[in-house]
Parts: sequence; structure tokens; C-alpha cells
Amino acid sequence: MFLSVDVGGTYTRIAISKDAKKIDKKIKYETPKKYDDGIDLLQEKIEEITGRHAPKAVSVGAASPIDYEKGILSKPPNLPNYKGHPLQKELEIRLHTKVYLENDAALGGLGESSKRKKVKILAYITLSTGIGGVRIVNGKIDYHALPFEPGHQILDPNGRFWPGCGQKGCFESLASGRAFEMTYDVKPQFCEDFRIWEEHAEVVSQGLVNVIILWAPDTLVIGGSLIKAGPKFTKPLMEKTREKLRIYKAPKIEISKMGDDNVSLGGFISLRQKLHLTFA
Ligand SMILES: [Zn+2]
Repeated sequence: MFLSVDVGGTYTRIAISKDAKKIDKKIKYETPKKYDDGIDLLQEKIEEITGRHAPKAVSVGAASPIDYEKGILSKPPNLPNYKGHPLQKELEIRLHTKVYLENDAALGGLGESSKRKKVKILAYITLSTGIGGVRIVNGKIDYHALPFEPGHQILDPNGRFWPGCGQKGCFESLASGRAFEMTYDVKPQFCEDFRIWEEHAEVVSQGLVNVIILWAPDTLVIGGSLIKAGPKFTKPLMEKTREKLRIYKAPKIEISKMGDDNVSLGGFISLRQKLHLTFA
């Protein structure tokens, strides 16, 4: 049995799989804001879902740049209390198994790529409370010396100061769910105003054009909670991105169909790759 955990700023999701291929069972609960409470509850929930059987390996995805050597979340903007704690080591001791830490958006992209086997280069952008993303090449997370941080490309040097990164006018400060609420004074999930969504699509499309130009993907997949707004947002978003991109014809742009499961599924794929498991 394999385990895939998605520690989000709002919810934590745990999935188990016998074959690290498909999700057999999953649970979701609110992520405690304090690290000590978070790790205790995570252990409790894992023991609940596994019936105290030690999994063969565990993938943990979290909304933060990861320090792979230390096994820590180096800068989790929505879970500041988790910063720097030895999450990987502590979980390995508590669960008696190997634990792999990864950035949640990277796993989300890996999950998306598993449904698009013919795509050689896939760019994945998640528009949520924050903005994250990853470049996937031939079904694997692309090599990187620094964390992928497409959400912190600067779109307006004179724009809003963003404490999460310390920059002004980055993609996330203008286009994320949190930015949406600050700009329009309404939470995205409660906004039905087509003009607002069209205006927001205009802002987001600029960041997507830059991602396409820098990562040169065959396919761009857009995920995250903001796409739950549906076509009133995603339609103008795709149109505006294609219109703005003038240097060449836009690659395929798709909206995630996997929703919140893509990080969990990506976690299983990552475990298969790390453990060199092969399946017919
Ligand atoms: Zn930023």
C-alpha cells in the first residue's frame, strides 16, 4: 500500500493506493495552522485510513518551495508555522517508512501529465489562493536547480507589494485567489459578475503568455480553485492568452479535469518513478 498526502493551506488530503496507480480511498480535513498540531493530526488520520499498516512509501506534497536535502518546507506562504520543521524525518520516524517531500503544484502537474501520455512538454499552472506551477518533460518533473516559481514572475514592477515573496506586482499578487479578493472585494467562489471575471482573465492571461514563452510547452494545463468559476472565467482566459501570444501560434491550452485529485495522483506517480516501479 502507498500513501499520497497533499498538505494544502486550507485542506489536507490523504489518499491510499494498492498499486500506486489509482486512488483506492481518500479523506480530507482542515489543515491545522500550527505545525505541532498538524503533524499529530496527520499521523492520526494516516493511522485511521491505513488501519495502522505501514505503507511502503509516502509522498507528501505541500504548497511551498521544498528543501530536498533537509526535507523541510522552506517558505510555505499559507502555513508559515510549518517553515523549517523537519517534516520528512519526523514523518519517517512516526510512520516507519520512507517519505518523499515535493511541491504540490509539481505533483499536480505530474498527475495531469499522466492523463496526457503523448504530450512531451507540459506546463501546469495552478490558480488558487496562491499561484504555482511546474514544467513536465516526458512525463517527469523537469530538472531544476531552483524551485519552479512561475507565480512570482513580475508583471508590474510598480504593482502591489506581496509579503509572500517580498516583490511588487508579481503574478500571484495580481492574479491569485487572494489577490482577486483584495482587488474586487469579493471571494472568487461567491463572484458571479461576468465583467469581473473577464477583467481577471485579462490579468491572468499575461502571466500565462509569459509561461508559454519561457517554457515552450506542447500543452498548457490550468488548474486550481479559481477554474471552478467555470466558462465565465476559463473561456475569456483561454481566448485572451491566445490573442496576446503573437510570436507564434499558441500551444494547446486545457483546463484540468482532475480537480483536487491531481496532487494525490501525482504523488503516486512520483513514488513509482522514485522507487523505479514498473507496471505493464
Ligand atoms: Zn511574488
